[in-house]
Parts: sequence; structure tokens; C-alpha cells
Amino acid sequence: CLILSIETSCDETSVAVIKNGNEILSNVVSTQIESHKRFGGVVPEVASRLHVEQMTVVIEEALQQANVTYSDLSAVAVTEGPGLIGALLIGVNAAKAIAFAHGLPLIGVHHIAGHIYANQLVKPMEFPLLALVVSGGHTELVYMKEHGSFEVIGETRDDAAGEAYDKVARTLDLPYPGGPHIDRLADEGEASIRFPRAWLEEGSYDFSFSGLKSAVINYMHNATQRGEEVKPENVAASFQESVIEVIVTKTIQAAKEYGVKQILLAGGVAANKGLRTTLTNKVEALEGVELIIPPLSLCTDNAAMIGAAAYIRYQQGKMSSLDLNGSPGLDLEQV
Ligand code: ATP
Ligand code: MG
Ligand code: FE
Repeated sequence: CLILSIETSCDETSVAVIKNGNEILSNVVSTQIESHKRFGGVVPEVASRLHVEQMTVVIEEALQQANVTYSDLSAVAVTEGPGLIGALLIGVNAAKAIAFAHGLPLIGVHHIAGHIYANQLVKPMEFPLLALVVSGGHTELVYMKEHGSFEVIGETRDDAAGEAYDKVARTLDLPYPGGPHIDRLADEGEASIRFPRAWLEEGSYDFSFSGLKSAVINYMHNATQRGEEVKPENVAASFQESVIEVIVTKTIQAAKEYGVKQILLAGGVAANKGLRTTLTNKVEALEGVELIIPPLSLCTDNAAMIGAAAYIRYQQGKMSSLDLNGSPGLDLEQV
């Protein structure tokens, strides 16, 4: 089974060819980061236009690298949502055109299901499992009792983790996207500033990062007003410690309560060194629970993860019709 998969939900144009749901024959990612940098974030209009420019080039490249042609394919998969509508539509229309022209089944994939299924490219899933999704737009704990079934047991009530990283980075005058820069700085600094931890109500698996973000902004503001020297590496380390402590503690609690066999880390923030290390150490102490963490290239947006998620739908016969549309607010639990 060979699936050609397409991802254009945000600022990466990516196409992959995936064999039997777990083998990457190619995974081409064309990132637009350089074009959005000077605006300090993703500009939707610019993103759509760059996807149009890149789409066919990246498709050809992915087929070539995988050494396959359209006639070798079993299906075409595409991210149908959530994401920027203009960006999603480029991928969805490309996928529909290919499906129609070559008589291939079309499979719409939820972007976050894709992030979770990046782990399936590392190791087979074992159920029940818990996925910790930490990305630019999402922070969620997702319980899965079987393939294709997603129960969101906790989510952010305001900012996503990646969003908080990017906003704090901006306060520290670091370039967009700020996550990797904070990660590097945090490594050099000391968590000497006590920023708040948003635990929320007892037993809640929800998250909140806006209070922490404001605390960092206030700290910077006050230090500047008083003419005090700010050590950005210490701010980064202190911010990161607060984020990781809450995320990891809630993940471990949920893993115990739900009696899961595996914990999967997913989303762009899963690339964070501090998070990977802390989670690894904490899960080691949990008997009978295995931790899976994707390699860095499969944490941020890529089409390989979309192909991995699509394979399950292919096996379950859950194809999409040719009137598939981009769906900016697609609900993970409804897919
Ligand atoms: P979503 O998947 O929720 O739709 P998205 O696709 O824009 O959002 P991803 O590509 O999954 O998000 O992740 C991008 C985010 O990951 C950015 O906020 C970026 O700053 C963050 N990020 C990337 N690397 C790191 C890192 N090493 N440490 C912390 N954050 C990181
Ligand atoms: Mg991105
Ligand atoms: Fe993403």
C-alpha cells in the first residue's frame, strides 16, 4: 500500500510517500518560515500564495525521491483541517485533482491525528494510550482506546504551549518561531525566577498559559523600568521550567488514572529538549508504561505523519468523497 500524502495547513508545504503506514519513502518539507519572519508570525495570505507556488514542485519531488509514479499509488491523503482555510484549500484541491485524474481513493486527515500518528512511524501503537499534543495551536491530552478513536481529556483554555513559547520569545526579541530559540537559551540559563504554575482545579487535565505569558511580560517590563539587568537565558529557563512542570505532571497523572500502556509525544513543541528529557525521566519511573517520542523532523509539520494517519482510515475503509472541503475548525473527536 503506497499513500501519497499532502500537508498545507499552516506554513509548511509538505508531500510524502508512505508505504504500509509506517515506512517513509519520501517526506519533502518546504518551509515558509523565512518569508513570515519579518512579520513576526504567519501571514495567512502570504502562506496561501506560497503554497500555490510550491505545491506541484513538492509533489514531483516527493514522487521522484520515493521513485514511484502515480500509477503505483493506492490512495491520496490530505490534511483537511484544522488550519488556515486558504492554506488548507491548496492541499485539498491538489489532492482532489490527483485522486480524480488517477482514479485513486481520497482520504481527509485531521492535522492533530497526523501529529499523533507521527509516532506510528517510530513504533507500533499499543492501546490504550495517551498522547500529549503540544503544538503551535494545540495543547491537549488525548486518550485513545483504539486506532482512529480520539478522546480529548484535557486541553488549553487560552494559549497553546507553542503560542506561549513564540510570544515569550518575542518579548525577549528572539526571531519567529521562538520555540527553538527559547529551548537553546533555557539550556544555558538557570531557572532562578519563580513564575506561576497554572494547575487549575484539582483533577483537571486542562491547561492555561496566558497567566504565565503575562508574568514573563510583567517581569521584563518591571526590570526595564527599574533599570535592572535581565538575563534572557534565565528568563527562558524559568519560563520553560514552569511550562514543563505543569505539562509533565498532568501527563503522568492522566497516564496513571487511565492505565495506559504508552505515552506518545506529539506536535512542534515535542521538539523541545527540556520537555523530552523531563518526560523521559518521569515515564521511566512509571512501571509498564512506554514513552514514544518522534525524531525532530516528525515533530513539526510534515506530510509523513498525515500518510501514517491516513493508512488507518484506508484500512478501515473510511475514504472521503471528491467534494471534500478544507475545514479550519475540524473537531478531532468527530473525525
Ligand atoms: P497546530 O499543529 O496546532 O495546527 P502548528 O502546525 O503551527 O500548529 P507545529 O508546526 O506543530 O504547529 O509546531 C510549531 C510550534 O512548535 C511553534 O510554536 C514553535 O515555536 C514550536 N517549537 C518548535 N520547536 C520547538 C522547541 N524546540 N521548543 C519549543 N517549541 C518549539
Ligand atoms: Mg509550522
Ligand atoms: Fe502542526
